[in-house]
Amino acid sequence: MIADNIRSLRDRIAEKCIKVNRNPEEIKIIAVSKNFGVNEILETLKEGIHDFGENKAQDLDAKFANLGNKVTWHFIGHLQRNKVRFVVNSADYIHSVDSLQIAMEINKRAEKINKVQKILLQIKTSNEETKSGISNENEIIDIANYCKDLKNTELAGLMTISPLTDDQNLVRKSFKYLSNLKDNLKSNGIFLNELSMGMTDDFEIAIEEGATMLRIGTAIFGERDYSNKMDKL
Ligand SMILES: *Cc1c(COP(=O)(O)O)cnc(C)c1O
Repeated sequence: MIADNIRSLRDRIAEKCIKVNRNPEEIKIIAVSKNFGVNEILETLKEGIHDFGENKAQDLDAKFANLGNKVTWHFIGHLQRNKVRFVVNSADYIHSVDSLQIAMEINKRAEKINKVQKILLQIKTSNEETKSGISNENEIIDIANYCKDLKNTELAGLMTISPLTDDQNLVRKSFKYLSNLKDNLKSNGIFLNELSMGMTDDFEIAIEEGATMLRIGTAIFGERDYSNKMDKL
C-alpha cells in the first residue's frame, strides 16, 4: 500500500511540476512518519524516500536509536528548550525554530557534539491563533542575521503550516507570504535555499508557490491512528 501511495504521490508531484515548469528533482519529499513505526519507515525507504519527519522528541529519539543515520531525520514539531539536546543529537534538520532563544540553545548543544545543525525558521503565515511561528518580519530578519554568525547552526530555510481551511486562496496566500519572505531576506543579504511547505491536502499549491520540501504523512502512510503510539515500534 505504501508503495502504491508513493507512486501516485510522485505522479501528482510530477504532473504539477510540468504545469508550473519546475523540475521535480528540486522538490524533496519528507515522509512524515509520526504515529507510524520502523516497519513503515523501512518500507518507504525501499521506495527511494530517505527523508523522514517526526514531531515529538521522544519518538524521534526512539526511531533514531533503531535506524540511526540510515535515513535523514527532520524534526517538525514544536520544540521546547529542554528537548533541544535530544533533537540536536538525532535530527539532520530542525524545521520548527521559532525564537532566538531556541536557535541559541540549538547552537550551544550542537557545539557540544561538534556538529553543524541545519535549521529552518518556522513562520506564522496566517492569522490562526493556534499556529506557532514567528510573525514579525523585523524579528525574522534579526534572528536570520544572528544565525549567520553562529558557527554550529546553519540556517537552511523557512517553514510554515498553512491555516486549516477549505479556502484555497487563504492557503495560497500563506505559501506566497513565505516565498516572498525568502525574497525579502535575499535583498537583506540572507540567502536561503529551502521552503518547507505543503502537506497531504495542500502540497500542489505549495509546489506552485515554490516549495522545496513537502512534508507528507497521510498520502504515504494512510490515516494516522492517534491511539497507537510507540508500542508500534
Ligand atoms: C503531521 C504533519 C505533517 C503531515 O501531515 P499530513 O496532512 O498527514 O500530510 C506535516 N507537517 C507537520 C508540521 C505535521 O505535524
